[in-house]
Amino acid sequence: MTARILEGKVFAQQFREDAKKKAEALKEKYGVQPGLAVIIVGENPASQVYVRNKHKSCEALGIYSEVIEMPESTTKEELLARIDALNANDKIHGILVQLPLPKQIASHESEILERIRPEKDVDGFHPVNVGRLVTGQPGLVPCTPFGCLRMLELAGIPIDGKRAVIIGRSNIVGKPMLHLLLSRNATVTICHSHTQDLPSVTREADILVAAVGRPHFVTADMVKPGATVIDVGINRIAPKKLVGDVDFEAVKEVAGAITPVPGGVGLLTVAMLMENVVRAAEMQLQA
Ligand code: NDP
Repeated sequence: MTARILEGKVFAQQFREDAKKKAEALKEKYGVQPGLAVIIVGENPASQVYVRNKHKSCEALGIYSEVIEMPESTTKEELLARIDALNANDKIHGILVQLPLPKQIASHESEILERIRPEKDVDGFHPVNVGRLVTGQPGLVPCTPFGCLRMLELAGIPIDGKRAVIIGRSNIVGKPMLHLLLSRNATVTICHSHTQDLPSVTREADILVAAVGRPHFVTADMVKPGATVIDVGINRIAPKKLVGDVDFEAVKEVAGAITPVPGGVGLLTVAMLMENVVRAAEMQLQA
């Protein structure tokens, strides 16, 4: 039997509707419009597309949005001064520094991201937010794994008591995903490049999350029949051809539910960013 296909657009639409409703409620109740500032340094064409998409999404949902374009030659001090000004700006509830940074400041990435006030860190990368996630306190959570969790919940896929396996231990996907699934009472295993006999681990999973960055890495023999397979990977194998980390055509014949690439998790990330901006505004108003 072919798997249920978890279409990203359906869930992203739900996230956007939720964000819009919550933004309207904040306006009505407090007279506050949630605001996002995105800083883009240099002229990376892919980054420019991502930033434009974020700006358009904000406009569609009634979220105030500022794009701050800084030249390629920007120094660390200049960028930190911009972040400080946004930290102090009441119209801005969320700040995002688009990565990658130009090479002269890339080595200071941690210091730059940590300058964002944790309450405005809508990427959820600040160590304070990481600590909150690990200790189960309310905070801002990275958009991609949070989107995956919300999608599982909206799709009605059971998590409590289930075995979850994540392939990949990055700070932006794998590790937050581990804590999110754990917070919903899954029994979670996280795998990486040193894991031995990976297929024997992945075959245990009721929920399998692939965040590896290798085309078609997860094959049908690695998947337990009926499992839910979430493919976070985005791999460009030709100028106009994107594939995930999962061999979709083969795995969909074994899995119970699966996300496609493109059209799956990728669509959740920007929609979840909108929710994070609104959540940031809510948290700042309640502080
Ligand atoms: P990273 O490169 O930071 O991490 C990859 C992880 O995969 C590492 O933990 C690495 O292990 C592990 N890995 C690599 N090779 C193997 C192997 N042979 N066996 C087991 N584990 C292995 O990637 P990201 O987490 O940043 O991204 C993962 C994928 O998700 C990429 O394709 C990226 O483009 C995509 N992505 C998609 C997003 C979206 O919006 N849909 C958002 C963010 C990322 P080790 O730690 O040992 O090196």
